[in-house]
Amino acid sequence: METILEVNNLKKYFPVGGRTLHAVDDITFSINKGETLGVVGESGCGKSTMGRTLLHLHESTSGTIRFKGEDITKVNKKKLSELRKEMQFIFQDPFSSLNPRFTVYQTLAEPLEIAGGYSKIEIEEKVYAMMDTVGLARRLVNTYPHELDGGRRQRIGIGRAMILEPDFIVCDEPVSALDVSIQAQIINLLLDMQEEKQLTYVFITHDLMVVKYISTKIMVMYLGEVVEFAETEELFESTLHPYTKALLSAVPLPDVDAKQNRIVLEGEVTSPIDPPQSCRFCARCKYAQDKCRKEIPPLTEVKPGHMVKCHFVKEINKM
Ligand code: SF4
Repeated sequence: METILEVNNLKKYFPVGGRTLHAVDDITFSINKGETLGVVGESGCGKSTMGRTLLHLHESTSGTIRFKGEDITKVNKKKLSELRKEMQFIFQDPFSSLNPRFTVYQTLAEPLEIAGGYSKIEIEEKVYAMMDTVGLARRLVNTYPHELDGGRRQRIGIGRAMILEPDFIVCDEPVSALDVSIQAQIINLLLDMQEEKQLTYVFITHDLMVVKYISTKIMVMYLGEVVEFAETEELFESTLHPYTKALLSAVPLPDVDAKQNRIVLEGEVTSPIDPPQSCRFCARCKYAQDKCRKEIPPLTEVKPGHMVKCHFVKEINKM
């Protein structure tokens, strides 16, 4: 399988009043062409910052991001803008990401105009073809974002991201601002486009059921770090990290009569500003021991392809 994105030791820190916020801390992973990597975690865990850093919308602090073999942290501006055509971003809130003064036509045409090399007729053909692909009626071509509902606005956002025919798309909570009834339509649209064009997605969400439905692999983040990483089926069948177990226990069961053993996390969330040399989850973990408070656990492969960041993963799971 062709590896499309390879990320090594990626860090994104922000200065905060003389201290340092570790938003993304030492993340390593790769994705193959046509796969979807689901990234989950509570808000503030750094998943959106990581998504933006992958596309160089935030400059990384250190680490490498190889897209089709090119390290985008090192390329010059010209090369970066060429690569950007192949790497796109779908935002959570289409309303704030779309220009309110642009019609549907202008919104979809603009990336082609900026990229250059297309005649007026070609642009028109591509805009209408994309409207058909994302399920926007052609009669809406001259409407503005505020005249459309959330689902249609997200279809424009997807069309704009896809119009340059990228290979790799970071989808940052693309359905969380939408009504539940519309969410499935948008997810199915993304899946249809992926199947047709062999697209690769990083899909950021706090919704574990969405991620289970669409992802090939799942990365669980906690306070800027990866705490568990595995193929989707493996992660759901053999959840190993205490934090992932708590997240999964909060997902409502489809059977309303089934007994739900929800794990309630107590304790203070550790600050991501100058975090201590310990497990960042230790203040909320019921298995925490002295070692957890004194040493950062390494992310270790405990089963083939299944990585966990916990000193006591074997003992907790009786492996
Ligand atoms: Fe819990 Fe310790 Fe494992 Fe952290 S390292 S998850 S505190 S048992």
